[in-house]
Amino acid sequence: MKISIVGSGYVGITTGVGFAELGNDVTFIDVDENKIKAINSAKPPIFEKGLEELMNKNRDKYKATNNYESILDTDITFICVGTPSKDDGSIDLSFVESAAREIGKMLKRKDGFHTVVVKSTVVPGTTEEVVKPLIEKESGKRAFEDFGLAMNPEFLREGSAVDDFFNPDRIVIGVKDDKTREVLEMLYSPFNCPKLVTDIKTAEMIKYASNAFLATKISFANEIGNICKKLGIDAYEVFKGVGLDHRINPAFFRAGIGFGGSCFPKDVKALIAKARDVGEEPKLLKAVMDVNEGQPMRLIELLKKHIPNLRGKKVGVLGLAFKPDTDDIRESRAIPIVEELLKEQAEILAYDPKAMDNFKQLFPQIRYAETPNEVLNADAVLIVTEWKEFEQLDYKGKIVIDGRRVEKAREAAIYEGVCW
Ligand code: NAD
Repeated sequence: MKISIVGSGYVGITTGVGFAELGNDVTFIDVDENKIKAINSAKPPIFEKGLEELMNKNRDKYKATNNYESILDTDITFICVGTPSKDDGSIDLSFVESAAREIGKMLKRKDGFHTVVVKSTVVPGTTEEVVKPLIEKESGKRAFEDFGLAMNPEFLREGSAVDDFFNPDRIVIGVKDDKTREVLEMLYSPFNCPKLVTDIKTAEMIKYASNAFLATKISFANEIGNICKKLGIDAYEVFKGVGLDHRINPAFFRAGIGFGGSCFPKDVKALIAKARDVGEEPKLLKAVMDVNEGQPMRLIELLKKHIPNLRGKKVGVLGLAFKPDTDDIRESRAIPIVEELLKEQAEILAYDPKAMDNFKQLFPQIRYAETPNEVLNADAVLIVTEWKEFEQLDYKGKIVIDGRRVEKAREAAIYEGVCW
């Protein structure tokens, strides 16, 4: 098939390159000239394991442009633009709206059936109440008759996005008309996983319910972990026991300093705002966010137990990405931790294998180390992201406060785990 992908960030580039590998022709449309240049030189615009190899292998099957006209040469368009939070936590749909308008303008000039698929995470109702009227207005055509419209939520995880594209747990297809369903079933026919076909707003809600559940599981683990810490119990031993219950499942019980990233915080906040919009107060989801906000400060509290006055003290920060194997720092727990250390007038020396360039844009005023070993020379070290290479360091004789359970760090002279 000929596919256009609007928005070539983490989701767009992985999806597009994945579809190219499966034999489709892909055109990326983005507003960011740097991303377009990078893609056209077969360089991933983000760091993601396996992506560069796949881009090199399929070099003749994709191109990138800022010109929406290239939609005219394709059969199907995926909307993969960002859906950040507004200041009040509700979803900011401005990128989705502008993409829908541009797609609509092109559909006006296009003969034949074209399918538009919303892959961005959008609150229930968005595809039919926001995207559909905008495309209809600009194109003068009717959805589900003259053009297809679907919602196909994305579940990939940064750090293993390429693998997740080819081996998804499930594919959810939210549709209304048969023709659109057939197009998507054909596109996804190479995949053997369960495929769930639903109506459009159910597909939108499945994405939010999934992320809200995972965020809840993390905040639950953290709350139990906080109690464990006070009782001198190792939360990891506790969750080993809990996870063996087949009704529960051991994944996502890594108690620590909380979740960050481009999805969980913003999606839970957007769901809270949407619930309030319809007169429902989401008590549990609010508590999930409250627990999460409190976790990073526990690392600082533990640090101050050993060094009460941080002024002028050299504090090492290991890990800046919101999780290992990515360069993404959106909502990283390193951000509130570094802000607090700056308030305390500590001297910060930070290291991350992939995310330092991104972090430098937010915090140009702190020092960055060339190697993780340099960071170990600080008065105390905070572990903020559990990169595998941090398991190889020699922590002997150091003060280490661990937010992510790096086993090797337990050999430090003074070692504190946030929930153990
Ligand atoms: P991103 O910020 O990495 O990428 C978005 C891209 O869209 C950027 O390259 C931006 O330049 C481009 N863009 C913005 N407006 C545009 C426009 N009008 N036309 C063309 N391009 C435009 O975002 P992301 O992390 O890939 O997330 C995209 C969506 O997918 C979000 O809704 C997110 O919640 C969802 N999602 C993300 C992940 C993830 O792990 N990152 C996983 C599942 C779902």
